[in-house]
Amino acid sequence: MRGNLAGPRILLRRLRETMAKPTDAQERLNEIVRLIAANMVAEVCSVYVLRSDNLLELYATEGLNPMAVHETRLSVGEGLVGHIASEARILNLSEPQEHPAFAYRPETGEEIYHAFLGVPILRSGRTLGVLVVQNKTQRLYSDEEVEALQTTAMVLAELIASGELKGLSGPGADLDLVRPLRLEGLSMAEGLGLGRVVLHEPRIVVTNLIAEDAQAEEKRLESAIEHLRLSVDDLLNRDDISHVGEHRDILEAYRMFAYDRGWVRRMQEAIHTGLTAEAAVERVQSDTRARLMRSTDPYLRDRLHDFDDLANRLMRKLSGDKLTDKNGEKPTDAIIVARNMGAAELLDYGRDRVRGLVLEEGAPTSHVVIVARALGIPTVGQVATAVALCEDGDPIIVDGDTGHVHMRPPADVEASYVDQVKFRAHRQEQYRKLRDKPAVTQDGVPVDLYMNAGLLVDLPNMVGAGAKGIGLFRTELQFMVAASFPRMREQEKVYRQVLDSADGMPVTFRSLDVGGDKVLAFLRMAAEENPAMGWRAIRLGLDRPGLLRTQMRALLHAAAGRTLRLMFPMITDVFEFDEAKGLFMREVAHLERHNYQKPEKIQLGAMLEVPSLLFQLDALLDRADFISIGTNDLHQFMMACDRGNTRLSGRYSSLSPSFLRALKHIITKGEEKGVPVTVCGELAGRATGAMALLALGYRHLSMAPSSVGPVKAMLLELPLAQLEAEFTEMLATAVHADEVKRFLQDFAERYDIHIPAGNL
Ligand code: PEP
Ligand code: MG
Repeated sequence: MRGNLAGPRILLRRLRETMAKPTDAQERLNEIVRLIAANMVAEVCSVYVLRSDNLLELYATEGLNPMAVHETRLSVGEGLVGHIASEARILNLSEPQEHPAFAYRPETGEEIYHAFLGVPILRSGRTLGVLVVQNKTQRLYSDEEVEALQTTAMVLAELIASGELKGLSGPGADLDLVRPLRLEGLSMAEGLGLGRVVLHEPRIVVTNLIAEDAQAEEKRLESAIEHLRLSVDDLLNRDDISHVGEHRDILEAYRMFAYDRGWVRRMQEAIHTGLTAEAAVERVQSDTRARLMRSTDPYLRDRLHDFDDLANRLMRKLSGDKLTDKNGEKPTDAIIVARNMGAAELLDYGRDRVRGLVLEEGAPTSHVVIVARALGIPTVGQVATAVALCEDGDPIIVDGDTGHVHMRPPADVEASYVDQVKFRAHRQEQYRKLRDKPAVTQDGVPVDLYMNAGLLVDLPNMVGAGAKGIGLFRTELQFMVAASFPRMREQEKVYRQVLDSADGMPVTFRSLDVGGDKVLAFLRMAAEENPAMGWRAIRLGLDRPGLLRTQMRALLHAAAGRTLRLMFPMITDVFEFDEAKGLFMREVAHLERHNYQKPEKIQLGAMLEVPSLLFQLDALLDRADFISIGTNDLHQFMMACDRGNTRLSGRYSSLSPSFLRALKHIITKGEEKGVPVTVCGELAGRATGAMALLALGYRHLSMAPSSVGPVKAMLLELPLAQLEAEFTEMLATAVHADEVKRFLQDFAERYDIHIPAGNL
């Protein structure tokens, strides 16, 4: 290896020339290893490529026995090369035979080499192969040489990823570096989706790797970092951090990384080896990813996202945003893969393009998941590192029933899913047949099943699903997709359409429930420490009565001559209900004053989502015409358990005995006072949840449209009186949600009640 910095740059230039040659791929690879060996003054240079069956195959060598090419194969983890692949780490060894992982392969004749340097060939943190140089003399390679080999590996990664090596003949011909993967997550919205990956945040692919002028590249990097630091500082200094969805602690971590000298130094070193600034960012990031993805420390793994975000920001600065969307056109069979996203962002894709959703995070009651469920988008959440494991356009299957995700599925898996899709269509057909059947339990108890909705696209589902009306219309969803605050007349139009399509069936509107994680693009809100417990829903509505009154007026106009049912979210104290009602009555008076037609009937209700109401039930039930329990929020506040926090979602079930006892108390009080009580949280839409609610005495349930069929099928087979008796006895002593769940599953089995997977 020449001791100056021109060496690697010359090598890179030669590599580029070689890659551009119109020769056969094997020829090109042979020439590349020759070039590397000559440039680094090494006796051996070899490339191992990771095959679809997880074996590392020797693809080209300069110096080892040429007969070993395409013959020598190592498992990941086997020998030094396998070790480098599995750990995604560099090995720089003098006397490599002494390393515990060394495995001797006689066919290669490599026993005479006393120096070994191997680097993983990485792309987006994934190992594609291993690049090795060896020398006969005993020595350790310098940092500069290690850098140069890593840079070369990056060029090779592009060659491998480009798919050009697929044309190789011989045993390597079946090379498919994008292996099929089956990942497990949590089922969040049922259904099956087959389609192609659309990364929510498209990965930036650097195509121009090799720089002409290292100094110029260094300047570009310097100025981009300067900009990046300023923009992170700027974000931190703004008072609306929560508004842009970036919490302060994440930004603090950003700031720490942005000023991290090691990070910057590694990128500068990469530029010294001849890379462009973009390629240097990518190289260092790929390295960091590989290391963090293998970390067993969950805190460090989480930091991967921060590093990724930061590297992406830097890349965008460098490329002037040109590289952010390499695809332009999005496929119409999109399966969106994201770390996490907001409900409005999902809506932006347009329902007809999206066939499925895969989230690295996500919780069953987070709003993006609720919206996905409302739109019937099969969703699997908590799929660790999903984003890193796929590329835009990869074939993918989302099984929202079992929580499985198949990336690049083999043909047989795909065929079996195609069959399942047909089977599901058949089952849906059966549910449709139940559509006009009254929802009555096997022993004759009628139950009202309603649908939750929030967008106009939901409305056609009502009739199809066999719901008796809309039990919860989340009005804020319209606001979340709007660019500016919808004016009174616009709102009126939407509400009128909702009532028209309900065609006389009851619709329960909920007044604006914004704040918390429901962000309106046009409403600037200050950062809050605890937004879920912050200035949201009716609290915001009462403090900004203009918004609420506009909405009330729009609803009153839309419901002229019909029934208007309106409820207020997040009532915490009874006086808030009185105040909201007071505002509403002022709007009614306004209507009367101006001789507008009034609704024929008005019913005002309260959502029960905050535990404090459990101790004011008498007063509340005396005032409200109806109550609707939002089990998502009630559960979150009762258990002090953030509904969107992935780490907690498995811990506190909404079938936990304490929660069910609270629900029992509410329905008992409601019955005493003769006030109807509905459940509209996600609990009502799960077959076992609905069974529990029926056993507690609930007869009005509102759920996502796709749940109405399965829940109706369940209750048609349900001997309710029997369930009530056994359930009451079980609940009296139960201490764990698992007991409740087991009891319900066992009951369903004993009475032959079909509960579809994904609707447990
Ligand atoms: C609830 O909290 O259960 C509810 C129905 O309201 P949202 O999910 O919209 O907060
Ligand atoms: Mg709620």
